Amino acid sequence: MCRGPLVLVAVGSNIATTDCSRGDRVRSALADLRRLAAAGFQASSLWRSAAVGGPDDAADYVNAVAAFRVAPTVHPWSMLRALQRLERRAGRPTRRTRNTPRTLDLDLLTFGDWHRDSVLLSVPHPQALARHFVLQPASEVAPGLLWPGTERTVSEWLAALPPAGDDLRRLNAADESL
Ligand code: AMP
Repeated sequence: MCRGPLVLVAVGSNIATTDCSRGDRVRSALADLRRLAAAGFQASSLWRSAAVGGPDDAADYVNAVAAFRVAPTVHPWSMLRALQRLERRAGRPTRRTRNTPRTLDLDLLTFGDWHRDSVLLSVPHPQALARHFVLQPASEVAPGLLWPGTERTVSEWLAALPPAGDDLRRLNAADESL
């Protein structure tokens, strides 16, 4: 099969429901993303991060990043719609306020070298390079990826950030019920 573009998707959840923990929600989203992949699917570890920019009492996030190739016929807009369908299926309302807690957040980080800067779709994702909770898991699945539009790899962008401290750590057994 022809090689399509390499896609990176960030996965996050900071609302657990009675039937689903944040960790399980992220694992389940990664399984759904695997089904969208044509080849080379890789999922990072799960990470726990402090919520950024939301209400003061916002719960920590569970984060991960998936990297995979899609078929050459797949367009970034149809990928965005597929991600939004998965968010809705996880109970996320269609209308929402920025930075509010969410059962599932899926961000299209990169789509090959495709470039677009609009409110509805901004790719590469404009905040990704400033976020440990994106770059740390991304460095597990695509460390050598040259970030589109820049001359640095994912690992190099991660190394350029100040230390994350306690705001980010790998999910461990004690976090299983998160
Ligand atoms: P948020 O609530 O932060 O997840 O933002 C969701 C909105 O961001 C949606 O309306 C999307 O159309 C828009 N958006 C813009 N760029 C992206 C992207 N790269 N990935 C996902 N959503 C995006």
